[in-house]
Amino acid sequence: MSRSKVVPFRNDTGISQALLQRLGDAGKKNGLDAIFPFPISKIEVAEWVHLKCRYGCSRYNTNWCCPPATPSPERTKTILSEYKRALLLVGSKSCVDFYRDNSRKRINQVRCWKGTLSLERMLFLEGYYKAFSLVGECCALCKECAYPEPCRFPQEKRPSVESFSIDVIGTLKNLGTTSKVATRTTETFTYYGIILLE
Ligand code: SF4
Repeated sequence: MSRSKVVPFRNDTGISQALLQRLGDAGKKNGLDAIFPFPISKIEVAEWVHLKCRYGCSRYNTNWCCPPATPSPERTKTILSEYKRALLLVGSKSCVDFYRDNSRKRINQVRCWKGTLSLERMLFLEGYYKAFSLVGECCALCKECAYPEPCRFPQEKRPSVESFSIDVIGTLKNLGTTSKVATRTTETFTYYGIILLE
């Protein structure tokens, strides 16, 4: 979890301000604070992120949206090479439930998940046919993931940002944004999703 000061990026990606405004309005209904377009070249992919999933996370090998079900760092780089632009989705939450597994936390996760997918859908209908979401948290659509049995909602299944071995803090630095890890559950933390665009 991190808290950060997000500076407004210069929109030099060619995405119209009108579309960004509509996406921003839709995102706000689902708890997102802001949406910024940026070039794919700013995304940092790192093996160490995969290590943290593999050796430091209780969700490893328990969810379709986490490793090892998601692409390796090498495959991620190949996937990203097929894109030029992306959107950064920024939201904020209270940390109170960060280490808890309760329904309030899950409701927020599901809201974030569905909100991201609804933006992806909007973009698809706008002609961005390659649009693909990397969601800001692990999938919590089911109380307990069906993994390794087939996913119950395959149309809504997407990888999380971290499961794609994306170094979020490094990527934010590349974007000229500051970030700091939230160290107390009394703090508000910022979470990030990405929609690969075209
Ligand atoms: S929709 Fe359910 S089964 Fe599918 S990845 Fe999410 S939690 Fe797992």
